[in-house]
Amino acid sequence: MKKSLIGYSRNDIGDLLLSYGISENHLKMRTAQIFHGIYYRGFQQIDKITTISKNFREELNKHFTLERVEIKKELVSKDGTKKWLLCLRDKNEIETVYIPEKNRGSLCISSQVGCTLKCSFCHTGTMPLVRNLTASEILTQVFLAKDKLNDWQKKNENRKLSNVILMGMGEPLYNYEEVSKAIKILIDPEGINFSRRKITLSTAGIVPMIDRLGEEIGISLAISLHAVKDDIRNQLVPINKKYPIKELLHSLKKYAQFNSSRKITFEYVMLKDINDSVSDARELCRIISGIPAKVNLIPFNPWPFNKYQCSDQKKIRAFSEIINNAGYSSPIRKPRGRDIMAACGQLISDSKRKNKREQGSINI
Ligand code: SAH
Repeated sequence: MKKSLIGYSRNDIGDLLLSYGISENHLKMRTAQIFHGIYYRGFQQIDKITTISKNFREELNKHFTLERVEIKKELVSKDGTKKWLLCLRDKNEIETVYIPEKNRGSLCISSQVGCTLKCSFCHTGTMPLVRNLTASEILTQVFLAKDKLNDWQKKNENRKLSNVILMGMGEPLYNYEEVSKAIKILIDPEGINFSRRKITLSTAGIVPMIDRLGEEIGISLAISLHAVKDDIRNQLVPINKKYPIKELLHSLKKYAQFNSSRKITFEYVMLKDINDSVSDARELCRIISGIPAKVNLIPFNPWPFNKYQCSDQKKIRAFSEIINNAGYSSPIRKPRGRDIMAACGQLISDSKRKNKREQGSINI
């Protein structure tokens, strides 16, 4: 099977060229040409990189490819949200969601197949971790979206895909090497050229890796907080037993210092009678004080056989008001793409169920 060049960093391309015996004098220029062809022009065939010789293109073509993976299913919501189910080369499936907004658009990408975290309200948490995605597979999600939206070679202000959020399946900080490799490629000014602030990584709070991310990359950060006391958070986000709230907040203060101009987003899923009281809201304001922050309130998105319910609208609004009054912006996330099950993990499970149904192993 040919190897994908998507995911090759400048260094990787350089090493590849050296292995083909290119002279040191031409190395930098040839590397830049190939990098530009892959990450700025978005070519889908090596043959299109005409800045390198035909012979060399033929040589590369024998072992490498720029072909994308298969889109197994595309769903388009009434509100314009698009969801792609991608079939990886080893037949594992991942999902990517594009959310268009006025003058911008965000792509929510996955970092793992499945997840190890087992957050009790998250549908992906019911699936075992199958494997980490490679940098190539992480980037391929952006590539496919750019192909579909005809968004290559566009100036930043005209892009339909203006933001990338690592908020799909998986815990990105448990796949640090591949995730950081992909991010470094995304922010390269000679390639796709995203600004650091337009890439947001969402984590359940893997403290040592947050420190590393702050020191090495410094993109926007979202924290799946969801509770203000350790006993409740232990139930909702079990990784809290390893990295409790106090330690998490301490590392966020450091992160904010490194990246001083940027706010940290706290995600807070609203679960009826679990984490939605007035005293929870007040405690939230207290514990995040000193951190430049914004709080995203996420109405819980129910899935079959789960044990939670979404808080009432009135309660969510009251919660938001308390946070607002304390000086933090606290938008209530509008559910997007409900009709296409655009929430975390749902399409994959649906497709898996169907596969099983076709095999006759479960009854639905
Ligand atoms: N592992 C990372 C990223 C994946 S989850 C993290 O924990 O941040 C992306 C976001 O969706 C998280 O904030 C997660 O808590 C939230 N989420 C998961 N299931 C949800 C559901 N059923 N309803 C609302 N939000 C959910």
